[in-house]
Amino acid sequence: LKKPNVVVLGAGYGGLMTVTRLQKMIGVNEASITLVNKHDYHYESTWLHEAAAGTLHHERVRYAIADVIDQSKVKFIQDTVEKINLEQKQVLLQNHEPLTYDYLVVALGFESETFGIKGLKEYAFSIANVNAARQIREHIEYQFATYSTEEEKRDERLTIVVGGAGFTGIEFLGELVNRVPELCREYDVDPNKVRIICVEAAPTVLPGFDPELVEYAVNVLEKKGVEFKIGTAIKECTPEGIIVSKDDQVEEIKAGTVVWAAGVRGSHVIDESGFEAMRGRVKVDPFLRAPGHEDVFVVGDCALIINEETNRPYPPTAQIAMQQGEVCAKNLAVLIRGQGELQPFKPDLKGTVCSLGHDDAIGVVFGKKIWGAKASVMKKVIDNRALYLIGGPTLVAKKGKFKLL
Ligand code: FAD
Ligand code: NAD
Repeated sequence: LKKPNVVVLGAGYGGLMTVTRLQKMIGVNEASITLVNKHDYHYESTWLHEAAAGTLHHERVRYAIADVIDQSKVKFIQDTVEKINLEQKQVLLQNHEPLTYDYLVVALGFESETFGIKGLKEYAFSIANVNAARQIREHIEYQFATYSTEEEKRDERLTIVVGGAGFTGIEFLGELVNRVPELCREYDVDPNKVRIICVEAAPTVLPGFDPELVEYAVNVLEKKGVEFKIGTAIKECTPEGIIVSKDDQVEEIKAGTVVWAAGVRGSHVIDESGFEAMRGRVKVDPFLRAPGHEDVFVVGDCALIINEETNRPYPPTAQIAMQQGEVCAKNLAVLIRGQGELQPFKPDLKGTVCSLGHDDAIGVVFGKKIWGAKASVMKKVIDNRALYLIGGPTLVAKKGKFKLL
């Protein structure tokens, strides 16, 4: 009997969780599993703001995929997925022959969404992957280094704009305010010359989050020098900085660094492959399959599920991606064996913790508000748990965060 071909695209939280669970559930003779990922490493997307600010080295943020997959059961292909041909059940890759699948898992994750705003793609950075994070760290450092060599000082070199005060923007600011004093010391730069500006279109920071905790976060960040421009939208990005508008008033802010943290979308491969989707996200059925394609599962940030209580989509998070990976693996095992029932996916939301640097945070966990040192410790426990779920205690020992404060 021919073994079914299971192909998993993407080794982020969703893809790796699917593969590491599936490899434990099925025997070598039951299915051929192939994992495709752009790089031979996995990165913790949820730690990228630290690599981008330079508070955590990018090597700490990634680990070899080979360390967590069982190579007797899973074949790994390092390549970039270009398109999925749904009719022919094939995946087109940049550098390898097309892959044919019986079951496909699309876990290609998120990309930055610039909503067509002029100049953002060309002149702004986004915290989208390890390479992008490393580039942001290098760019900021370059601005400081260049400033110290300039005869005629251009102070705007030392202005850093962060677009968006969602969780990504706030977590990045939390790291940046700790990194900037170090940079000032390293490059003999007067700290008073540095400006860190956060521009948020909504009337509040972290829209929708607990107002008391939001106030706590704003106070912490303002004390460390962040200027918030709330109710202000970025309209354009230029080589010199950004154009913003508030109540029809337009203003230019000159800045040496602009980091766009104001939106994400699912992979462009989703759009290119003809799935019915919104911004690269497929509204999946209860079993995580793409409508009309029962052999195609979509997990993580490329999947869209509606929260029945609020009638709004669940936010794209690592927490949900990992839970989906687990259910997806179980459902694949059912299909491979032709036995049992498919399990519907139900998110089990445990809460949200948003870091404010390495020693402070805010959060709501199991319905309880936490902040300060307690929240910060909780954040590291969550970070370590993600490592544990995919790579067990060995991975935690290798990559875990043990300095709790
Ligand atoms: P990803 O983690 O994006 O992984 C996708 C994988 O696919 C990557 O390995 C990528 O290289 C690969 N890939 C992409 N395109 C291709 C291609 N064409 N070909 C081959 N390979 C490809 N969520 C939380 O729950 N808690 C948090 O604290 C949290 N913090 C965050 C902090 C930051 C700074 C950011 C940016 C996000 C954070 N999130 C958090 C959101 C979370 O990171 C995402 O929801 C999560 O990464 C989605 O997982 P995923 O598996 O769908 O995709
Ligand atoms: P987001 O979409 O959650 O937030 C983007 C913010 O940018 C919003 O507040 C929005 O009002 C603002 N914005 C949009 N357009 C703008 C404009 N033109 N000018 C100024 N502001 C503008 O995006 P995110 O923060 O990157 O989060 C993405 C996902 O990752 C979310 O699901 C989030 O929950 C998750 N995440 C979670 C954590 C955590 O749990 N600690 C951390 C980071 C990200």
